[in-house]
Amino acid sequence: MTAALCLARNGFRVDVFEKAPRFDPVGAGIQLSPNALFILDALGLGRELRRVATAPVGIIVYDAYRARKIQTIPLGAKAIERFGLPYLTIHRGDLHSILASACEMAADIALHMDTEVTDVTEHANGISVLVQSSNGLITRKGFCFIAADGVHSRYRNDLFDAASPVHSGFEAWRGLIPVEKLDPAFNPDATSLILGRGSHGIFYSVRAGRTVNVLIAIRSREKTLIPNKNIDPSPLRRATGWWHKRLRMCFEQVENWSTWPLLTAGKLRHWNEGPCVLIGDAAHAMLPYAAQGAAMAIEDAFELGLLLKPDSDPTSAFKSFVARRRKRVAKVAKLAETNGQLYHMGWPFSAVRNIGMRLIPGSQLLNRQAWIYGWKPEGQFADTNETKSG
Ligand SMILES: Cc1cc2nc3c(=O)[nH]c(=O)nc-3n(C[C@H](O)[C@H](O)[C@H](O)COP(=O)(O)OP(=O)(O)OC[C@H]3O[C@@H](n4cnc5c(N)ncnc54)[C@H](O)[C@@H]3O)c2cc1C
Repeated sequence: MTAALCLARNGFRVDVFEKAPRFDPVGAGIQLSPNALFILDALGLGRELRRVATAPVGIIVYDAYRARKIQTIPLGAKAIERFGLPYLTIHRGDLHSILASACEMAADIALHMDTEVTDVTEHANGISVLVQSSNGLITRKGFCFIAADGVHSRYRNDLFDAASPVHSGFEAWRGLIPVEKLDPAFNPDATSLILGRGSHGIFYSVRAGRTVNVLIAIRSREKTLIPNKNIDPSPLRRATGWWHKRLRMCFEQVENWSTWPLLTAGKLRHWNEGPCVLIGDAAHAMLPYAAQGAAMAIEDAFELGLLLKPDSDPTSAFKSFVARRRKRVAKVAKLAETNGQLYHMGWPFSAVRNIGMRLIPGSQLLNRQAWIYGWKPEGQFADTNETKSG
């Protein structure tokens, strides 16, 4: 949807096909770092986002065994001072509905829910897509095809002959609790990051501070590839049985747990082929340990909007897009992987990590990700009245 909003600004008419019948509030919360917010602000969505999001004052890091504070990484005013923008946390359902309303209000975007793209063909003047909808199969012709179809991307396989997603051996347990049920030891105005052996947890507020999003990453036994809703929390209780009681009591407040396998996109040589391109998780799904997967998808969308013009050749625009994005995305994915290793360390390495984190000022710990948050795109949109279907 971000890509559609960017392309519409650039003079395209865009059809968005989404196979889900509606956007259910799946997956609880999401962290929106300043690099992503810069783009959403440029699209005029900033006010709406700030109305429902919260801006944590910092990330308070705890150890899981004692629930003792290790360090605070400042965000809040510090993020605004360093990056010019806040670091937000938001419910995914809220982010989806803000993007969907913006698409619905844009004259040049048609958002088709409950429609699955089942085939794409390239021809001399662009592409044709075959779409399965409740009214049967329809064909749509267009200038180019952008596959933003997530980590299980069909087009990564169909067009790029790439491997299936790779399971990291970890899964995320996610749920929500009302803010009044959060143990008073944890500050709802901050993000809490809990580091445990082979596991970690994160809490932060969503829904304008009324609800707390809980995410616990543990080793996965089943290695299933799809998310599951309303899961019995026994495996989570077993994996975190040694965590401090105060933390375990917090988890007990969650009424509905869902589990998400933590997958990566695996190796992919090309993201573009003629007038077709992959963006977001379809191209580069990464581990969520830097909270950057959606931010990278949003950055992709903006860069694509800058490079693809109605009078440009999509093949060469996509080549430039991939050349611009690949290095940064790979560096972010690498950092996410390293974060996972740091978060999940066992004793005695965890003791050394904790001492190191206590000695290094929190503002310096922020530097590890400052190069991500401080990113700005290389251009702005040109105003144009020309339209072309994309
Ligand atoms: C536990 C966890 C926590 C995370 N936390 C963060 C975070 O805090 N911050 C952050 O930036 N990122 C985070 N991420 C990563 C983020 O969720 C993803 O990177 C992001 O959702 C990718 O967006 P996308 O649009 O590329 O793909 P998706 O969000 O997967 O969207 C793909 C869409 O395509 C649709 N679709 C698929 N196939 C078809 C088809 N053939 N036709 C039509 N529609 C189709 C699907 O229904 C879906 O709606 C997290 C991920 C996980 C697993």
